[in-house]
Amino acid sequence: GKPRVVVIGGGAGGATVARYIAKDSDGAIDVTLIENSDVYTTCFYSNLYVGGFRSFDSITHSYDGLQSNYGITKVTGMATGVDREAKTVTMADGATISYDRLVVAPGIDLIWDSVEGYSEDLSEVAPHAWKAGPQTKLLKAGLDAIENGQQILMVAPPNPYRCPPGPYERASMMAHVLKAKGLSDSKVIILDPKDKFSKQGVFQEGWEKHYPGMIEWYGPDVHGGIVSVDVGNGTVETDLDTFKGAFMNIIPAQKAGAIAAAAGLADDSGFCPIEPESMRSTMDEAVFVIGDACIAGDMPKSGFSANSQAKVAAMTIRGDLVDAKVFPARYANTCWSLIETDDSVKVGAQYEPGDGKIASTQSFVSQMDEDAALRKANYEESAGWYAGITADMFG
Ligand code: FAD
Repeated sequence: GKPRVVVIGGGAGGATVARYIAKDSDGAIDVTLIENSDVYTTCFYSNLYVGGFRSFDSITHSYDGLQSNYGITKVTGMATGVDREAKTVTMADGATISYDRLVVAPGIDLIWDSVEGYSEDLSEVAPHAWKAGPQTKLLKAGLDAIENGQQILMVAPPNPYRCPPGPYERASMMAHVLKAKGLSDSKVIILDPKDKFSKQGVFQEGWEKHYPGMIEWYGPDVHGGIVSVDVGNGTVETDLDTFKGAFMNIIPAQKAGAIAAAAGLADDSGFCPIEPESMRSTMDEAVFVIGDACIAGDMPKSGFSANSQAKVAAMTIRGDLVDAKVFPARYANTCWSLIETDDSVKVGAQYEPGDGKIASTQSFVSQMDEDAALRKANYEESAGWYAGITADMFG
């Protein structure tokens, strides 16, 4: 019969790789996409939903097109195991699905106990909103309930995590909502385990300009280290101080989605090593790992990166299975962040295999003191990117 590709995870990486393999092989390869959800809400632009710039519906996408337009079989449910010898995936309901090539793209799982006092249960009160969906709605509801003078406490994650500028774009969007409602005595306080963060200069300049006194960022030199959280009391204990908030957004440390370790594809870092020329797992030549779950060298964990890696994996898999031509791997990423209406900053790079990893060859980042027209053009570019990547994922 036809060669079979199974993809675990229907996000930025998984949906793209499934669609490219199905589309470019014209039915010569049988593609099955295993995804636990019926719909996919993008983390990208979820901060703009929090800020009131986007509706929840506009960031939520259906898998119908992948099935009807590309003949992809979608299996809804959790993959719980992989038998790499037998080349089968086991589902939570006990079903098994066999493959010739497997793509593992489960995104991240949160390491709940990386923040002492936090847990999955408590994320119903103090959401992380680092996986989009109900968590994102909880975050927005908490923000919208803030009264003048109340504070929001955010605990930012340690490296490596998905979307390096994400926490800081989120703080900007929270301040945007507070400011628009006239709650000028309210604040967003960010407690960071890191001593610096992505695009820090342009973020802090933007906060000063648009939200004076409304966003405070503290690294370990100020708080000494985050010790524990008490979600019931709304407090964060640090080595040097106790911080209090009416609402908390706690973003724990991250690792590859559980199936990656269950399949024996992760190393001690909690993420999966890959060959930079192909996105093939270094543990198994029949398996590819893309997106947040893999160790992508200089590339950040982003939707843009996952989509870019998916295209290299799709090409390599078609080379393996139907002798399609394989070109040298090239990757790209850009991360845009909206600070305030029409004030968007960006950071990005091009990458190629080099020094045994995916290595950056050229890069760019927004500068301080840029003119408003450029920042507005960045915003329009990001909106174009969002429309483009979601079409590239879902057809
Ligand atoms: P995901 O997109 O998370 O997809 C993984 C999928 O796998 C999920 O749908 C999950 O349900 C499914 N799954 C997992 N395990 C299993 C299993 N065992 N069985 C079945 N299904 C499973 N990136 C950008 O490029 N630009 C941005 O502006 C941006 N903004 C962001 C803002 C925020 C607040 C956050 C949190 C992230 C942002 N990102 C952004 C990062 C981006 O969302 C991720 O890097 C990207 O989604 C990674 O893609 P992925 O395919 O690896 O994982």
